[in-house]
Amino acid sequence: MNGVVLPHGTGRTRRQDSRRVQDEVVLGHRRVLAVVAHPDDESFGLGAVLSTFSGAGAETSVLCFTHGEASTLHGVPGDLGALRERELQEAAAVLEVATVRLLDHPDGQLASVSLDTLVTEVLAMADAVAADLLLVFDEGGVSGHPDHRRATEAARRAGGQRNLPIAAWAIPDRVARALNAEFGTTFQGRPTRALDVRLTVNREGQRGAIARHRSQSQAIPVLWRRLELLGDVEWVRLLDAGGGWPASS
Ligand SMILES: [Zn+2]
Repeated sequence: MNGVVLPHGTGRTRRQDSRRVQDEVVLGHRRVLAVVAHPDDESFGLGAVLSTFSGAGAETSVLCFTHGEASTLHGVPGDLGALRERELQEAAAVLEVATVRLLDHPDGQLASVSLDTLVTEVLAMADAVAADLLLVFDEGGVSGHPDHRRATEAARRAGGQRNLPIAAWAIPDRVARALNAEFGTTFQGRPTRALDVRLTVNREGQRGAIARHRSQSQAIPVLWRRLELLGDVEWVRLLDAGGGWPASS
């Protein structure tokens, strides 16, 4: 943690002052476990954040709940579940992710899977990699996908049981509004005052990882536009879990 002490009970006051939490408080974590719903979420969504953690010396891991077999963006022939598993492994290697665990829950129906089951799986992975931070999609799912919301719900519950802090990747309102206007999507943003950490990122690793998800190439236009709108910045919300987050002085 780079000598940063996490005081208890500070978690709720931080948003009274926009972005009081500094990058290094988040990037000081050493073993980061990303909990996602679909292969490509770790790259299209979390890619730049994951590679920022790797660049800061953290060991990163990914737990993915589904094989993404329900995707309608089937850009290449073959069994989609098997293809996407390979793509996930390749993308994770580009992002320097140390450990990937891919589960086989039904894509598109994660909300029908028992929350206890999902939580148990998050706990098992968190314990296996000795995670000191969970990284998730924002609670609205960012793209609005119910599977994303369910994965975050499970991670939040698990984080509460292990006293683990949780960082939620989020996008600003203005980016969500622009994408929804241009593409008819359902992105859910947040006012930047509700976003706790502004990370300056290098997208090189993310771009390389995105390219490994060949079966999802039809998703690329909206993705490139999002990255263009975000530039070299990603935003993180700090969810209440663990001992709370320190406000930088
Ligand atoms: Zn997804």
